[in-house]
Amino acid sequence: MDLHCPNCGAPVQFPYTGLSMQVCGSCRTLLRLDGAAIQAVGQCATLPFDVSIFQIGTTLNIALGNGRHVRGNLVGRVRWGWDQGSWNEWLLYLPDGTIRWIAEESGMYMVMQGQRARQAQDAACRAMLEHGRSALGHAFMFNDTTYYLSDIKTVRCVSSEGALDEPVSTGYTIQSIDFRNASGGSLTYQMEDDGGYFYEGYYAQLSELDPKNLRGLDGWAKPDFTALADKKQAGRR
Ligand SMILES: [Zn+2]
Repeated sequence: MDLHCPNCGAPVQFPYTGLSMQVCGSCRTLLRLDGAAIQAVGQCATLPFDVSIFQIGTTLNIALGNGRHVRGNLVGRVRWGWDQGSWNEWLLYLPDGTIRWIAEESGMYMVMQGQRARQAQDAACRAMLEHGRSALGHAFMFNDTTYYLSDIKTVRCVSSEGALDEPVSTGYTIQSIDFRNASGGSLTYQMEDDGGYFYEGYYAQLSELDPKNLRGLDGWAKPDFTALADKKQAGRR
């Protein structure tokens, strides 16, 4: 099926099952595939320059628990902003068609898995949002783990690119709560247009993610570990 952007006519593809959103690479209109029809559902600004070494097409190796790992592909990105800065969240598409989000902020990497909030959890988080910053430090149980509220903020999409699972384009704004637990795990609650979602995650070092196909930045040396990883790879052959 030949698909074209209804705004500029450029060819577009939706190659990832379950990801019905795509930012047109030519005019940056956010497109939604609905059956055989394509709708324009938003507009994405030109992404500001940033020094991320990731790009669409970078692959990362993530932990699934029980010692298992899987390598996925970065296929989309949302850049979020708030009143004190901005950061990237990359959509990692796994071979089984599920996704993870990789948040990238000040050289730290958070691997997050999203799930819809159950009604009681959603109500509890909405109440904390109403209390605002006076809720800092409040305890919250999630999957048998006690988390503590560490931040509440309003975040706004600066821009998006590539394939996405939700219509997040420039200006999309949500309320967000960050929680931390005693062992360094993180939980984020986001009140989105269609309800509340949790994103539970773990911190990973860049070397643990074993990235391949990094973006080349003129004047920037790639980190040493990629050379080491390449050597290891070569040694195995
Ligand atoms: Zn277009």
